Amino acid sequence: MNFSSRLLEDAVAEFSKLPGVGQKTALRLVLHLLNQQSEDVEKFSQAITRLRNEIKYCKVCHNISDLHICEICSAVKRDKSIICVVEDTRDVMAIENTNQYTGMYHVLGGLISPIDGVGPSDLNIESLVDRVKSGETGEIILALSATMEGDTTIFYLYKKLKEFNLPITTIARGIAFGGELEYVDEITLGRSIATRIPYENSLVK
Ligand SMILES: [Zn+2]
Repeated sequence: MNFSSRLLEDAVAEFSKLPGVGQKTALRLVLHLLNQQSEDVEKFSQAITRLRNEIKYCKVCHNISDLHICEICSAVKRDKSIICVVEDTRDVMAIENTNQYTGMYHVLGGLISPIDGVGPSDLNIESLVDRVKSGETGEIILALSATMEGDTTIFYLYKKLKEFNLPITTIARGIAFGGELEYVDEITLGRSIATRIPYENSLVK
């Protein structure tokens, strides 16, 4: 692409770094911004800068939050005895949207993936074990994607957590293999939490 302006070129280069945005789309977005009032563009850039600088991760569950302890962890009405383990904040949002779950979460921040160089120590696993050790937990739901990485992570967590003798369940029904949680529709996801099964049942004995 030949640009008539270096500023234009730089802005397009930044936008095209975003996932799913090619150069053509980036150019369209940048030209759109150029047509906006300068205070609107200011708001736009402030939102991104503040997001990056001010966002916090909940000290308990590692979910993205404005506070040191997120609203879910500090809610009095929620069931503190169940922890639903998920890959990232998108899964928390997907499960919250089902209105079927009132327990707590634990956000791993990824899945074990040796190919991508992600090992257990790169994820929020030790803090999960510490939470379970503290003794408030009565059940752990492993709500991870039905992919190779999801399965590997579930098996690893199961081995780490089984000594606590708690029910460890997985969501199962309706989630096809290869299915990523965030793309599952709300009804299916809600049902798969309601009909979760003990993880031992899916292990080959
Ligand atoms: Zn939290």
